[in-house]
Amino acid sequence: MYPFALERPRDLNAALAFRAQAGLNDAPVEYIAGGTDMVQLLQENVRRPRQLVSLAGLLDNGIELGPQGLRLGAAATMAEVAVHAGVVERFPLISQALLASASPQVRNQATMGGNLLQRTRCPYFRDVGYASCNKRMPGSGCAALGGENRWNAVLGTSENCIAVHPSDLAVALAALDAVVEIGGPEGERSIPLADLHRLPGDTPHLETILEPGEVITAITIPADAGGLRSHYLKVRDRASFEFAVVSAAVALDMDGSGIRQARIALGGVGTKPWRVPRVEAAMAGAVLEPAKLREAAALAAEGARGYGHNDFKIELMQRAIVRAVEIAGART
Ligand SMILES: Cc1cc2nc3c(=O)[nH]c(=O)nc-3n(C[C@H](O)[C@H](O)[C@H](O)COP(=O)(O)OP(=O)(O)OC[C@H]3O[C@@H](n4cnc5c(N)ncnc54)[C@H](O)[C@@H]3O)c2cc1C
Ligand code: SF4
Repeated sequence: MYPFALERPRDLNAALAFRAQAGLNDAPVEYIAGGTDMVQLLQENVRRPRQLVSLAGLLDNGIELGPQGLRLGAAATMAEVAVHAGVVERFPLISQALLASASPQVRNQATMGGNLLQRTRCPYFRDVGYASCNKRMPGSGCAALGGENRWNAVLGTSENCIAVHPSDLAVALAALDAVVEIGGPEGERSIPLADLHRLPGDTPHLETILEPGEVITAITIPADAGGLRSHYLKVRDRASFEFAVVSAAVALDMDGSGIRQARIALGGVGTKPWRVPRVEAAMAGAVLEPAKLREAAALAAEGARGYGHNDFKIELMQRAIVRAVEIAGART
């Protein structure tokens, strides 16, 4: 680990100003929240900031349920949100996605903001022994393209990067039309979660639309996403403490045994949390009949590309959608 200084600003404005002068991603000055991702990357020498700005105590950690919907302060921990009675009752998809993430110890420490901004688990990104990784070293190539890419993405990829976005929470939030509240040196703004993460294109090292110094301050989920029949299906190599090979977040508005509206997002397959609007449109008005669901789920494969070891994900993600819709639709 390279040496760094830890700054503890007295308030958020001081933190924003301090971080802003350092520039975009992987800057010499970086924020740290729960530290569960950042410290791992420091230990592996993947990230080498000279200064870390602690967000501890500077951001809202509230969990509020009101007529407008749910508001999660950026500093609320994964554990607090996962077991909050209002979240469990009204937005169970969020609770399920969080409880399927990491371990109790990590969830006790990790925050909402940090979760959305955690870095990819692509092994070539996380091991500085590999010389080629455009995300870690722009212009160096992509070792995953011709290497072991079982974990990598099949949707939203580019010739420069095929890394999967790793957050389970972000997939559930994408399905629920969440909005991210952002604070920065220039003021506050809100954006749909769907717009937070960038596609890799030819700049895979730039992962979000955040400007220098900006922080996530809260996440809001609209009230109309509450109370839907939902399910988070996570396919993984072992039952806990493991990232998704493929996941499907489904929230259904049912009309008797028919689907009035489906909201579906995928994890483990996209370079960002991946909503599937064409699948949703095909499921609207459908009954929970396997052949019909299968036909609609096939639309998720449009534009998908396998890279060898991960070809199986294209079929698996369709099956995950069907299974998750069946489970959500069967809920009362
Ligand atoms: C063993 C292990 C297993 C895991 N398994 C899973 C899993 O199955 N599913 C899953 O989704 N995740 C998993 N994770 C990842 C875990 O969820 C993240 O490490 C965690 O959510 C990060 O939150 P944090 O508060 O610790 O962030 P930090 O590590 O403190 O920060 C992460 C990044 O976000 C930035 N940041 C943090 N907060 C803010 C903010 N408010 N505004 C702007 N920038 C900010 C930091 O600068 C840093 O770049 C796992 C982690 C570990 C260690
Ligand atoms: S997929 Fe992206 S993160 Fe992985 S090696 Fe290629 S450039 Fe790096």
